[in-house]
Amino acid sequence: LVARMRPFGTTIFAEMSALAARTGAVNLGQGFPDTDGPSEMLAAAAEALRGGQNQYPPGPGIPALRAAVAGHQRRFWGLEYDPDGEIVVTAGATEAIAAAILALCEPGDEVVCFEPYYDSYAASVALAGAVRRPVTLRPGDDGRYGFDPAALRAAFGRRTRLVLLNSPHNPTGKVFTPTELALIAELCQEHDAYAVTDEVYEHLVFTDADHPHVPLATLPGMRERTLRISSAGKTFSCTGWKIGWASGPAALVSALLRVKQFLTFVNAAPLQPAVAVALALPDAYYTGFRDDLQQRRDQLTAGLTGAGFEVLTPEGTYFVTADIAGLGGRDGIEFCLSLPERCGVVAVPTQVFYDDVEAGRRLVRFAFCKRPEVLAEAVTRLHRLT
Ligand code: PMP
Ligand code: GLN
Repeated sequence: LVARMRPFGTTIFAEMSALAARTGAVNLGQGFPDTDGPSEMLAAAAEALRGGQNQYPPGPGIPALRAAVAGHQRRFWGLEYDPDGEIVVTAGATEAIAAAILALCEPGDEVVCFEPYYDSYAASVALAGAVRRPVTLRPGDDGRYGFDPAALRAAFGRRTRLVLLNSPHNPTGKVFTPTELALIAELCQEHDAYAVTDEVYEHLVFTDADHPHVPLATLPGMRERTLRISSAGKTFSCTGWKIGWASGPAALVSALLRVKQFLTFVNAAPLQPAVAVALALPDAYYTGFRDDLQQRRDQLTAGLTGAGFEVLTPEGTYFVTADIAGLGGRDGIEFCLSLPERCGVVAVPTQVFYDDVEAGRRLVRFAFCKRPEVLAEAVTRLHRLT
């Protein structure tokens, strides 16, 4: 194995799901829903499979899906992208992120990101021979995660190539504020850096959040330097399909496509028309999905609080983080590894998503994208901890 990949072991998600399978624990670790997405989408996939859409589709994705992605971004965010040249379909957001970084970063270039970060970020940056410059998100007195603006400013420098921004943010559930986004935009422009935005949770911002989700690309001067990435997995509860997309100015999208064509070439033919159908669902689908998840968030946060966790209520995504200090926990990894045996539940230690391990030492993440009865069972079990 090449040196730059040696620091990376098995991803925490595979590790924790294996632990759940081995122990029969309730798996609130890896984030995947336990119910299927919209029936119209599933029917369209079955029809495409039976209808012979089973050979290589076009490299940038089928025209119907690119048109649907453009329509979706116009409808929800007022963003205009040309389906021919400004949108490309990828193998989930993961491939889009990797291809973006590989396409834009020379060895030694720096990538500013926020930690805790989604685990593929560090690996993709390493594959490109680039260097990550994480800015730490910390829980504040208001129970919300924030960062020191001076630390963000200091993370930008001569070698900064791009900022990788995930909002709504996994694992913290943070939705970046307009002020924070404005600072990120200002620094990108000051340093002539690109932005790669991971917006896979764009539709999961709860009604009691202080502010809505705002795509960075909508800020003045940002569309021309931003690759905006999203995916069907989260919005339509089909994480196993791995259909994602990137949108941006033609020059950036064509750079990404240059790399993408040698990573996967093209993506699952019969799933693309189905995701096009899903993207065109009426607004009621999107708000209904969010309201559902919000109820589950409330169910799990109440349950965790009752069980002795200090919960950091998320404004978005389908994850909640909690501090284990109140339960006498000192280390999230230790805690999560013993949790199946202690009470039959699996969670993810968020310290694995930090370079500054101390900042996340006692934080653990639970996924609430599960049926209410599954969450109820997990909560019952977690009460055995006290
Ligand atoms: N980014 C974030 C923040 C995620 O949580 C995930 C996991 N779903 C991904 C990217 C990967 O998305 P996909 O499965 O579409 O590759
Ligand atoms: N995005 C999901 C999570 O954070 C799962 C990702 C994965 O398994 N690679 O749990």
